[in-house]
Amino acid sequence: MKNRWTKSGAHQAVSQWGPTCGELLALRLYSAQLLGADSALVLHGGGNVSVKSTITSVLEDNIETLFVKGSGFDLATLSPDGLSGLDLAYLRRLRTLDQLTDEQMVNELRTHLFDAGAPTPSIETLLHAFLPHRYVDHSHADALLTLTNQRDGDAMVRDALGERVAILPYIRPGFELAKAVADCYDANPQVVGIVLLFHGLVTFGEDAETSYDRHIELVDACETFFRTRAAGGSKSRLVGSRREQPNGGKQTEDPAALAARVAPILRGIIAQPTGDEDRPFLRSILEWRAAEELLEFIHSADGKTAAASGPLTCDHLIHTKPRALYVAEPAWSDESALRRQIESAMATYRKDYHAYATTYDTDRLDAAPRVILLPGAGLFCWGPTKRAARITADIAEHTILVKSHANAIGPYTSLPDAELFDMEFRPLQQRKLKHDNHGTLQGQVVVISGGAGAIGSAVAQVCAEQGAYTIVADIGKNRIDQIVQSIEDSCGPGTAHGVLMDVTDEESARRGFEDIVRTCGGVDVLVPNAGVAHVAALADMEVSDFRRVMEINTVGYMLFMREGIRIMKRQELGGNIVINASKNVFGPGKDFGAYSASKAAGHQLGKVAAIELAADHIRVNMINTDAVFGDENMSSGLWATVGPQRAKSRNLSEADLPEYYRRRNLLRARITGRHVGNAVVFFASNATPTTGATLPVDGGVIEAFPR
Ligand code: ZN
Repeated sequence: MKNRWTKSGAHQAVSQWGPTCGELLALRLYSAQLLGADSALVLHGGGNVSVKSTITSVLEDNIETLFVKGSGFDLATLSPDGLSGLDLAYLRRLRTLDQLTDEQMVNELRTHLFDAGAPTPSIETLLHAFLPHRYVDHSHADALLTLTNQRDGDAMVRDALGERVAILPYIRPGFELAKAVADCYDANPQVVGIVLLFHGLVTFGEDAETSYDRHIELVDACETFFRTRAAGGSKSRLVGSRREQPNGGKQTEDPAALAARVAPILRGIIAQPTGDEDRPFLRSILEWRAAEELLEFIHSADGKTAAASGPLTCDHLIHTKPRALYVAEPAWSDESALRRQIESAMATYRKDYHAYATTYDTDRLDAAPRVILLPGAGLFCWGPTKRAARITADIAEHTILVKSHANAIGPYTSLPDAELFDMEFRPLQQRKLKHDNHGTLQGQVVVISGGAGAIGSAVAQVCAEQGAYTIVADIGKNRIDQIVQSIEDSCGPGTAHGVLMDVTDEESARRGFEDIVRTCGGVDVLVPNAGVAHVAALADMEVSDFRRVMEINTVGYMLFMREGIRIMKRQELGGNIVINASKNVFGPGKDFGAYSASKAAGHQLGKVAAIELAADHIRVNMINTDAVFGDENMSSGLWATVGPQRAKSRNLSEADLPEYYRRRNLLRARITGRHVGNAVVFFASNATPTTGATLPVDGGVIEAFPR
């Protein structure tokens, strides 16, 4: 375990934050970030830290203050905004109480903040308050948990760390644990840290560096102990030990191909039924991991045991649930057998989960696993958003590593189910997940062909704003990257993904959808949109131009839909196809035969698809748009091509075209890509039981009224 403290780093932190927050807080933030920088110490909002200082009130009173990390904040990026300042003298008095419920505790914490806008302080705030030291650091270090999560964890920790630490059995985090830790320290004032079995490590000191150094030293001692014990032990079973694998450990097929094949099946089976006919399922987004080490462990004899054992520390439960689902020897060569296998494993999982969560309202219980281990294909983690799925996957990967290490020195052991259930469903913990719930399209995957163009990118942006995971499918990597970046800048990381896809090429479309399925698990909304235009009167039409337009606009729509539909059908979750057709379908104009014919064909394909797919609960609708010119940020490639000639056909200058199109509609509306995006969201949210219909987004053009 590397000690990351440097004089220059500390100095820089003091010059960065010192002037506004003071040196004590600056160094607090510095070592908090050092802890956060090591994923072997804390992961995603895990762990917490504090410093005791004073503040001066508006009445010039100097008040003793505890600055503690806000609940759910990441140590790695902790800034002054992530620290909550509380009335320390008052908090200390709470120690005299015999009991304090979670609700009371949160109320006492929130009503004794010095900044009304501060985040809710960590669940472990009182632990920090009751210890006398200026700095307190708490982590859930992998190496420590390797030792604590054992049948004789107490003895192992004592062997590894000697008398430098006190050891506490598992106690529910919150008021109870805070009192126990303070009592333990009072009884052992010589220790530099306290080990919480099945939970983590607390160290302390009068300055930031001492507390941090002690933390790293103790974790390092755990690592050394583990290495020595594992090397000397008779059953050294580490990740990567091929000897233990059944079937000689032979991997016959590419894990990526297997993942693409199985992901839509998994996604369909784990979707949570809602009982609402219009929105029958809560869907999840996938994060798939298949590093070689991981594949080997999942394939090994320990993989199944690991899936069936509990989490490393209770803080992980809200992301991973207590157990992973393991599907033994998947029938990769027979899809229907594979589906039956997964269905049966899932049914058992749900049954066990209901038995575990006996005291919970079963109607509201989502009993689907968050983590699935599939020998051959890897680790499949699920969440309501991509961000949540990534957090789950990071934790799951560490969990597998620690369990594998723990098994090398003694059987890995976790807390009893009753303790796990208590933490998983604790309102204080569940509240941490709230920020992941937003938007009418949450959990839905929207794929837009031509997603990097003027209309496509606006549709992608609007869908991402509504909570969808948006896939920008297009040709031209740079443009795709730009659009994905701009969506993630405004909607947050993990809201968009780019895929190279030439919709006129079968192989490219197939590969593109495979990439999509591995990235997020499946597809819910298809928006065929990639198109080109060409201006020529029929008498002058070149066959090659006509073919090119038909190839992209008609064959492209067909191929894009075909590949997407195949995935939707395997998911069995229904879905939506929203075809970007054109005002031209009902109201054609001269010199635009190739474009109008191709769009009319795409529109007609949509009607046929509506008939064919209704039984699969896939709705197909069309949007007839008129003249979207793009904006200052994104010009329309289509209008750049046809603008000059369309202007000529109408005896106008090119610059006058947008105004011409605005004036020719009843509402005098300028049509934007965002308007098309809003129409996609309307259909994709199943707001009305509609399929096979056409929605004009054209400001009202009489000759193009649907009929
Ligand atoms: Zn903790």
